[in-house]
Parts: sequence; C-alpha cells; structure tokens
Amino acid sequence: MTATAKTIGVIGGGYAGLTAALRLAQAGHNVTVWERGAFGGQAATIPLGDTRIEIFYHHLFQSDTHIQALAEELGIGDKLMWLPSDVSYFADGKLLPLNGAVDLLKLDIIPIWDRLRVGMVTAWLQIQKDWMKYEGVTAHEWLTKALGKNAYEKTLGAQLKAKFGSYYDRVSMVWFWGKIWLRTKSRRNPLEQEKLGYFNGSFQVVADALVQACRDAGVTMKDQVGITSLDQIDSGWAVSTDTGCENVDLVLATTPSTIFQRLVKGLPEDYQARLNALDYEGAIVTLLELDHSITDTYWMNIADPTMPFTAVIEHTNFFGPENYGGKHLVYLSKYVEQDHPYFGLSDDEIMTEYLPHLKKLNSSFSEEWISKRWIFRERAAQPITPLHYSQKIPDLKTPLDNLWLANTTQIYPEDRGTNYAVRLGEEVAKRILAES
Ligand SMILES: Cc1cc2nc3c(=O)[nH]c(=O)nc-3n(C[C@H](O)[C@H](O)[C@H](O)COP(=O)(O)OP(=O)(O)OC[C@H]3O[C@@H](n4cnc5c(N)ncnc54)[C@H](O)[C@@H]3O)c2cc1C
Repeated sequence: MTATAKTIGVIGGGYAGLTAALRLAQAGHNVTVWERGAFGGQAATIPLGDTRIEIFYHHLFQSDTHIQALAEELGIGDKLMWLPSDVSYFADGKLLPLNGAVDLLKLDIIPIWDRLRVGMVTAWLQIQKDWMKYEGVTAHEWLTKALGKNAYEKTLGAQLKAKFGSYYDRVSMVWFWGKIWLRTKSRRNPLEQEKLGYFNGSFQVVADALVQACRDAGVTMKDQVGITSLDQIDSGWAVSTDTGCENVDLVLATTPSTIFQRLVKGLPEDYQARLNALDYEGAIVTLLELDHSITDTYWMNIADPTMPFTAVIEHTNFFGPENYGGKHLVYLSKYVEQDHPYFGLSDDEIMTEYLPHLKKLNSSFSEEWISKRWIFRERAAQPITPLHYSQKIPDLKTPLDNLWLANTTQIYPEDRGTNYAVRLGEEVAKRILAES
C-alpha cells in the first residue's frame, strides 16, 4: 500500500467496474467492488450443462482491441476464437442472406436501382472518417434523403424501427455511422467471410479472469450485494447496503445513470441535465434450448412489423451444438421502450406471443423442440444517442468531490459494448489516479 492509498468503492461489477477496480488496486489503492447481481454485468452468463452461456448474445469484432489486449494480459488470449459468421434479413416472408455486395444485389424486396443506391451509400459511409459532420442530423433524416423513401423504408429504415421502436427518428446519424465504420474496420479482408470473436467457455472466462486478477491485486469482491444509497460525508462517501454501511474516500459508480441518480442525492442540476440528455432502451431477450435448428444463419435481422421480436440470433450456428451436448441455442431479441407493455408481461405471456411466429422462420418448428427457455430483461440496454451529444456527454468526474461515474452513456462516438466498457474502465481509472 502506498502512503497516499485511498479506500475506493466501485459500484457495479460489469466489465467497466472490474477493469477500473483492477487498475486502481494495482496502483496501490484499497478497493472494494459491490455488485448487486453476478460479476460480468450485461455480459453475465448462466450455467448450461458443463459449460455456460450468455444471458444476452455476445460476440466481438476484430476491431475490439481493448478487450483483446486485456484477455492477453489476463492469460486467456488463447480462449478467444475467431469464428465465421453470417447475417441475414427477414422481410416479406423471406429469409435473405445479407453478407456483402453480391447478396445486396440479389435483395429482391426492392428494385435493382434501389439496391445499387443502398450499396453506394453504404460504400460511401465506409470511407467517412469524420463522424462530427453527422452530429446535427438523425439517422432517419440522413438515410431517407440518401436512399430515397422506398429503399430506406424497406431496408435500413425498417431495421432502425425494429431496433429503436418509437425512438427511430431521434437517433443521431453518428450512431449509424459508427455501426458501418466498426464493421468496416473489423473486416481485415472484405472479400472473406466475416469472423467474429467468442470465448471458448463463454464470456464467463473473461469475468472469471478479471475477478481473479482483482482478488490477486487485493480487491475485496462483493457480489449479490446491491447498494441502496451513496451519501457524502466529510471524509468521502458512505456506501449503504440493506445490511450496513461502509465509509470510503472515493466512489466510482458504473451503474446506469438512472440508477446512479436514485443512489446519489444532491447532484447539481446541470450535471443531472447531462445525465438525462440521453434515454435508454430496454431489452427483452429470450433464450431457447432446442432439439433442432431453426435456421442456418447466425444473425437474422427481422424487418417485419407483425413479428414481436426483431432479431433472431442462432448462437449454435456460430459456436456449434457439439459444444452444448447437441442442443441448439437461439436468442429472440427485442429492444423496447421503458414503458413498453412487454415489461409487464410474464415469461409465459411473452412465449405465447412469440411461439406462433417461429413457424414463419421454419414451418416445421414445434413447441416440443424446446427443452429449456429463459427470458432476461435489461432496462438500460441501449443508450439512444441524441443530436450533438459530444456537447452533452457527462464527464467521468462528477461535480461532487470524490464521486466518479463511468457507464455506457459515456461511450461516444462508438456504441456500447464489452470492448468499450474495458476502455472506459481503463480511462476512468487513469483519470482518478491523475486527478484525485
Ligand atoms: C442484448 C444485449 C446484447 C449485447 N451484445 C453485445 C455483443 O455482442 N458484444 C459486446 O461486446 N457487447 C454487447 N452488449 C453490450 C455489453 O454487454 C455492455 O456494453 C457492457 O457489458 C457494459 O459494461 P458496463 O460495465 O459498462 O455495464 P454493466 O455490464 O451494465 O455493469 C453495471 C453493473 O452495475 C450493477 N449494478 C446496478 N445497480 C447496482 C447497485 N445498486 N448496486 C450494485 N451494483 C449495481 C449491475 O448489476 C451491473 O452488473 C450487449 C448488451 C445487451 C443488453
């Protein structure tokens, strides 16, 4: 312990919190992590046979260099596999492959000139490096103009609506640019099939290695313990749980901003306005364990407004069923607004809504194929990037002394993801070390 060692409380044991805790402890501070659920946060897993599976589908892009470097450092680099993946699109009752220019040219749900236009616009976006020029325009406005109404509504507009629901016309074009840019940077060779990253043994391998590294560096790890309030005291912060209270010199919260604002009283109004500049979409994700495969595609975007879920991710078309005792694992994903009625439905009610639609994807599908099912809900799943967000983003250092915040709303211009949670954890730890 150094002479200036502080006691630091990290709230939240997702990838941002764990990475920051590790760096702060390595610098000689006395760190405790409080996590209300399981370590790993949104990338947490559940046991499945003799392995584990993510509650929310996860993969890495080749451009996700921060998490790759961390995996190497933690000695689990050899567990990261790069596996071929594919994307398809379900529209007008058809399943259409969509893995590049050739597939786009065959996309017969729009006329050939519209296909060419979508191709040209996408190719043009791929070479745009300056995201700042998209800050003042929504993706909806920009893409409608660039593609024309018909092509937009049948393709990227349908996907925007599927992902963002009633927020579809508020999302900044910077978000869309980021998606195209990431995909471009991630493909080392555009002519080869895209490869995505996955950990042999699931993303739990990363959480376990991070937790172990934290313990080795002296961090006190408390999972299944939720924080109920954070109160400023003369010498720092009082961290309260249902069963007690502990005083620390400094707090780093990595919870969503909505939770952070419930935990901390007295945040200045202008900082709260920054926190509220951005809304979150929630996600409801169903995981099915099946005796048979539903489709032969890994990632399927659904652009059919009559379907109650908007993406089908057949994980075992990516990391094969032989890794799961021959079972097939399929996620049905739906992003929803905070007041969406699905948040009020029970698991059975959600399944009753979903089941008839699976037959549209595979006419042989039968409910008897399902051997297990889980439904996971996350309220702060996807930040909705507003216009001019670079001027609204809340600083990691809050205006209250010795109180820091690092969450997915501060990842910009990129979209949230495990790679950026690791980068954020590194960045906030560096700033705490330099400025506290
Ligand atoms: C459906 C879905 C699919 C995704 N797919 C991918 C993907 O393919 N690839 C990828 O890289 N990323 C993906 N992500 C995103 C990625 O998982 C997240 O961006 C990343 O894990 C966020 O890490 P974090 O530490 O910032 O936040 P979180 O993981 O949200 O961690 C915050 C932690 O704070 C804890 N917490 C909250 N309140 C309290 C409290 N009161 N007391 C104590 N603890 C508290 C929470 O339990 C949580 O563990 C996906 C996310 C979702 C929802």
